[in-house]
Parts: sequence; structure tokens; C-alpha cells
Amino acid sequence: MECASSDVNGLSNIHLQRLENKTSWAMLDLEVLHCPICFEPLTIPIFECGNGHLACSSCCPKLSNKCPSCSLPIGHNRCRAMESVLESVFVPCQNAELGCTKNVSYGKQSSHDPECIFSRCTCPAQGCNFTSLYKDLYGHYKSYIHHLQSHGQEYMRNRFSCGISFSAKMNIISDTILIKCEDNKGLLFAVHCFKERDGVYVTVSCITPAAPQVGEFSYHFLYNVEGHTITFKSSKVKRILEVSFQTPQENFLFIPQMLLRGELLDMNICIKHLDEE
Ligand SMILES: [Zn+2]
Ligand SMILES: [Zn+2]
Ligand SMILES: [Zn+2]
Ligand SMILES: [Zn+2]
Repeated sequence: MECASSDVNGLSNIHLQRLENKTSWAMLDLEVLHCPICFEPLTIPIFECGNGHLACSSCCPKLSNKCPSCSLPIGHNRCRAMESVLESVFVPCQNAELGCTKNVSYGKQSSHDPECIFSRCTCPAQGCNFTSLYKDLYGHYKSYIHHLQSHGQEYMRNRFSCGISFSAKMNIISDTILIKCEDNKGLLFAVHCFKERDGVYVTVSCITPAAPQVGEFSYHFLYNVEGHTITFKSSKVKRILEVSFQTPQENFLFIPQMLLRGELLDMNICIKHLDEE
């Protein structure tokens, strides 16, 4: 379905377009696309009571499935008519101002959002709040680090190339994020360790939107201590817009407490571009 819209900032009215044989347009007041109870934008599924009053899916349980207007049960019958209205409404991507020309469905969770190449990424340097398009972040980070460390020693130390393993030394208490710079592609990767009671979780992510243009990466960990070796291979480096401080739920290397020797962690990591494996 094609689509169009106006005024990203105001969003008071949007165009509604239906494609059959010809294109038809209508103006729609955005108010009607909001839940009448919580005033949040409606998303599918939408429910209605026997009298046709609407409620969104998060309101229904809060109302104990009782319509606040007429007390009839609500939360069992979908309002399909309103759902198809939502599906036919398209608005510009939230990054339209940054150059994205895609339109996304108003009603459905868009698969475009996490993939939008125009999403802003946050600089991973401590104390820096700079945000930019992913392709500008590398240059910013590089000059920022150069500026901080005379002669850019840290930057030089943290360069790597996809497919060539490198050693990563971290301190699980004081030095938990290691930013690795991939020169050829101009990408920043974050090796992040999380100290928990039972051991340390280590993961790798790439600071970029999950856009197909960026490509996908795998990584391989190797941790060696006194004859014990732990390896971990992940087929997918998570792509993130900013470094997260939540212990990962999946895709991590786990080093149990008994295999830690003090605060220092010395690992070997290899990050590969998936098409180049
Ligand atoms: Zn609601
Ligand atoms: Zn009702
Ligand atoms: Zn977009
Ligand atoms: Zn920065």
C-alpha cells in the first residue's frame, strides 16, 4: 500500500489513502485514532463493548474488562473496522527529519523502526552524549578519543579488522566496556562484561541500527585459565543504538565465578562479517 502524509510535527491531521483502482484521499482527525480512555494512540488489537465503545488492549485489563461508559464486558470482541482504519493510515518514519522517506503504518508495529538507517546512535564514550547517524559516529568517536588521549594511543590499540582475532583485556569491576573500532567499515563494536553473583557475562554488540545495508556479524570468544578453556560462538552480533547496561539474556559468554582470577579478564575475540565467512 502506498501512502502519504503531512506535517510530522503537528500530526493534528493525517492523510488517509486507500488504493483500489484509484487513489482516494481523506482528512482524518488524529484524535479518533486515540484510545478514548488512556488517550494513547490506538494499536491493534482494539476492543469494543456491546454498545460499540472502544478501549485499547492495555486499558481492558485495567478496567477489569468492564466498559467504563456502559458497564458491559469489554476485551473479548475486536473492533475490526477500527483496526482496518488504523492499518490504512500511514505516517512518515520518525526519522523523516533526518532524511528517511519511508512511511510506516500507524496501527501496526513497524518492522522498519529498528531497521531505519536514519536512526540516531549514541556515542559510547563515557560522559559523551553525542548522537548521530551511525555512519557519522565512527568519525566522531575517533576524534573524541584522539582528543582525550594524547596521540590517540587508545584508539590505535582498539582498532581491529573483521575476521582477525584480537585479545581483549578488561577489568570486570572498573573497565567493563571496551570499544573496538572497525576501520574498514567504520563501525564501533562494544565488548561489554557484566559482573553478577554467579560469574561474568560477556557480550559483543555493534552500535548501529539493524539496517540491512550495515550487514550482519558473528563473534567468537575464547577464554583460557589454567588449562580450562571456554569458547562461545554467536551467529549474531546484536545491533544497538546505544550501549545497554542490562545484563544480556541471550548471546553471551558466561564465565563462572570459579574460573575467574581476580578482576582481570583476558579473552580472545574474533568478529566476522557474515558474508565474508
Ligand atoms: Zn487505552
Ligand atoms: Zn460500553
Ligand atoms: Zn526510517
Ligand atoms: Zn562522543
